[in-house]
Amino acid sequence: MKVRKENGKLIVPDQVTIPFIEGDGVGREITPVTQGVVNEAVAKAYKGKRTIGWKEVFAGEKSFRATGSWLPDETMDAFREYIVGIKGPLTTPIGGGMRSLNVALRQELDLYVCLRPVRWFKGVVSPVKEPQKVDMVIFRENTEDIYAGIEWQQGTPEAQKFLKFLTEEMGVKKVRFPETSSFGVKPVSIEGTERLVRAAIRYALANHRPGLTLVHKGNIMKFTEGGFRNWGYALAEREFAEEIKSGRLIINDVIADAFLQNTLLKPEAYSVVATLNLNGDYISDQLAAMVGGIGIAPGANINYDSGHAIFEATHGTAPDIAGKNIVNPSSLLLSSVMLLEYIGWNEAAAIVTSAMEATFESGEATSDLARFMPDGKSLGTKEFGENIMNKMNVS
Ligand code: NAD
Repeated sequence: MKVRKENGKLIVPDQVTIPFIEGDGVGREITPVTQGVVNEAVAKAYKGKRTIGWKEVFAGEKSFRATGSWLPDETMDAFREYIVGIKGPLTTPIGGGMRSLNVALRQELDLYVCLRPVRWFKGVVSPVKEPQKVDMVIFRENTEDIYAGIEWQQGTPEAQKFLKFLTEEMGVKKVRFPETSSFGVKPVSIEGTERLVRAAIRYALANHRPGLTLVHKGNIMKFTEGGFRNWGYALAEREFAEEIKSGRLIINDVIADAFLQNTLLKPEAYSVVATLNLNGDYISDQLAAMVGGIGIAPGANINYDSGHAIFEATHGTAPDIAGKNIVNPSSLLLSSVMLLEYIGWNEAAAIVTSAMEATFESGEATSDLARFMPDGKSLGTKEFGENIMNKMNVS
């Protein structure tokens, strides 16, 4: 049965169907391991009262081979219809003007939040001294900013036309080398800012998080990044006045470069972070590196108004290690924890999280992490999943 969104609420049936894209490359390894672990946790938590029916939908190379299409309409329809889904990594088709499949999915469903929780697991080796202080949730705007893809290459008639408009109609004199410049446009809107900041505030309040920080470069880009800051504060004061007054919501802001420094110097100062697209890209990767890197960072793309959400492995298809049973499935596993929390199945989510904590704490991990642990024991991808299942305890 399908998840529905009614009167602003997500309605989740006990026998829920979740569409999934297996993913290319290592997707074929991490997806079955993740499903096995989630099925086990759901069975342990709800004793058969709740179950997940996994519905495979196609995208990427597997889809291209089977159907001739990289992203068939049926896949898009399934995510639209079933509301909540999960995906492994996809090969980006090269050439032919194809959009990245990930970008296509985000744009079609207007998934305006890229959600990246970042926390450290005891036992995982980190390049920083006190990784236990890193516990942040990043709300990265997903649809606007310099990432909107509005740009013109140097030397083209379009770039010439844009330059003419800038200089002749807008009186711009600041383009340093006009004839050899490429140009990009950075749209940042009130609506785009407000829906992101609203989602971040609601998340902070619902999860009893101590505060929200708006990260921006408003000191330099006053109307775009500065607008984001100002509209963010205005929204908070307008819609969450009570929470601010009572001290339940503390909202502040910081310049992006200072923020990146501070994440190393005093990461405990930040909890929920809202930021624009480009800043969010850098921030997510730095924070992921601070807690163990690419194999362990989960993510989701969400539209909190329609409810549509796609949870995903944040790494790529890792062709260099595909098929060797060595890939770390933690990114997709932790994304599935996010999915369980999103649909309100918190008991099952907690079972997966505790079992992963216990696994890492005992020095067991896939080789990308185990080789840095003092007494690390390298496990294959499948064995790592089995180990997690064996460590599931229900009180
Ligand atoms: P990648 O993330 O696939 O790999 C980068 C490096 O990290 C490789 O050495 C890889 O072995 C390692 N790595 C990645 N995930 C790992 C894991 N879970 N466990 C252990 N090691 C891991 O990035 P890439 O090589 O730049 O991209 C390969 C393909 O993936 C490209 O086609 C790219 O377009 C695609 N891609 C897809 C997504 C996505 O679907 N979300 C994201 C990034 C890249």
